Amino acid sequence: METENLSEKGGGHGMRVVCAWCNKDMGEKDGKGAVGVSHGLCQECFDRVMLEAENGIMMDLLIAEDAEER
Ligand SMILES: [Zn+2]
Repeated sequence: METENLSEKGGGHGMRVVCAWCNKDMGEKDGKGAVGVSHGLCQECFDRVMLEAENGIMMDLLIAEDAEER
């Protein structure tokens, strides 16, 4: 008798990390008792955010400067 018993690794222990932007699976995070989904940013989206942040920071600086002068 052969029984194929492929029990899932961990069986739901640990947290899955998913990119909040593109839902890319980034693997599992080790965490005792912590079960669920954690959102983060994958490298691709991180680069994109950094590019947009650069522009955003520029805008923030301009706005902040203007606000401080008032
Ligand atoms: Zn992503």
